Amino acid sequence: MITAASLSGMTLPSWASHLESKLAPPPLLLVQAFVDTLDLDLHTDVLAHADEARAWLADAGLRDADRTGFDADLRLARAARESLRALIGRNTGGPPLTEAELRPLEQVTSQAAPRLRVAADGGVGLGTGGAGRLADGLAGLLLAVRDAQADGSWERLRLCGNPDCRWAFYDGSRGRQGAWCEMASCGNRIKNRSLRARRAQGIIQRQPHGASPAGGP
Ligand SMILES: [Zn+2]
Repeated sequence: MITAASLSGMTLPSWASHLESKLAPPPLLLVQAFVDTLDLDLHTDVLAHADEARAWLADAGLRDADRTGFDADLRLARAARESLRALIGRNTGGPPLTEAELRPLEQVTSQAAPRLRVAADGGVGLGTGGAGRLADGLAGLLLAVRDAQADGSWERLRLCGNPDCRWAFYDGSRGRQGAWCEMASCGNRIKNRSLRARRAQGIIQRQPHGASPAGGP
């Protein structure tokens, strides 16, 4: 089994090159990479432009590049991405999915019917069609979610607590309490923000005991 730890020493797959750390173990890694194709903090989106989106979806094995009907598929991919973000958000106290958030996933599950397969070695698994349709590719992501929910790894996939970020990250820590994609960026930003807010309310008026004033002589 490939774990995030063993993966960290390897080159990431090209479809996950926008991820840097806190990687989910495969196949959950593809769910994380798909959701994080939209970087709300940096305002970058791998699925913003058709050519780049077509190439990424093909590279990730979610959709064959030469299939027709790309415009509708791209709309479905973007909508399903936000549905999956909301699904991950449930692991960090987010609200239940709205009807609008469930609809793209229902479109996926109605178009792609997973099939039971029995392998020669006796393993019984669920698979999706191999025709390169986006619905099958996205159904594969839902199967990865289902398996992760069954083995307990799902709850470690979390959304950054910075409302302007909402980056999906994998919390491999023992306490499972990670709240930020990166403490250095989002964690400190939010902490400084709440610190300033509390100072503004006059709750914090003095430095902690023994600390010298920042920027003092
Ligand atoms: Zn963040």
